[in-house]
Amino acid sequence: MTIVEVADYTDEALAELNREFEHLPASKIIQWAVDSFAPHLSLSTSMNDAVLIDLATKVHSGIEVVFIDTGYHFPETLQMVETVRRRYGLNLRMMTVPHHAEELWKVDPENCCSAVKVGQLDRALEGKAAWMSGLRRDEAATRGQAPIVARDLRGLVKVNPIATWTQADVEGYIADHDVPVNPLKEQGYLSIGCLPCTSLPTDPGDPRSGRWSGMGKTECGLHFDTDEPLLRKT
Ligand code: SF4
Repeated sequence: MTIVEVADYTDEALAELNREFEHLPASKIIQWAVDSFAPHLSLSTSMNDAVLIDLATKVHSGIEVVFIDTGYHFPETLQMVETVRRRYGLNLRMMTVPHHAEELWKVDPENCCSAVKVGQLDRALEGKAAWMSGLRRDEAATRGQAPIVARDLRGLVKVNPIATWTQADVEGYIADHDVPVNPLKEQGYLSIGCLPCTSLPTDPGDPRSGRWSGMGKTECGLHFDTDEPLLRKT
């Protein structure tokens, strides 16, 4: 089956939906994505927490969840993958990156992210029509205008069901639903990526300030490229 056989939204239709979704609960947005695109729909997770997974599996228990094992993750993040997989009986698709002889992140983090993360996501999304992520606007100034639904540069529909949630919303949901959280959060990490490129936040007011600290880089390219938003706002 190809993406031609699933719902085909024009950019204008996505723009209208984007306006409508500003006022809808995340579960309704996920329901729309599932109704429109499953099984050609993936959920990409960084395993910082399982909020989006908790929401999405309540709508569609068999939704495909993609995790990119870069080979550079903290042990705690890999432990979190296993905790979440068991808790939700996940339909988990691990994208495992072949071992690198040289540590590319040291010499060229831009190309490391591009080859390791973006390349694996491209592979995971082959044959898909849409994907979801837990990206939120209040995570960083660079994400402040992120749409809830838009077309990405691959031509796929990208859905950010909790884009409008605040950190307090996330914490409230975690407490109310006993959602698993990456153990590193207890140690003060606010945003967790690969071990060599993640430190404790350098600015307590900026959750992503511990990502690529001192490397002149703020995004890995999964959601945005280095200068321009990957998502075309609708
Ligand atoms: S976060 Fe660092 S180690 Fe991970 S893919 Fe990007 S540059 Fe490489």
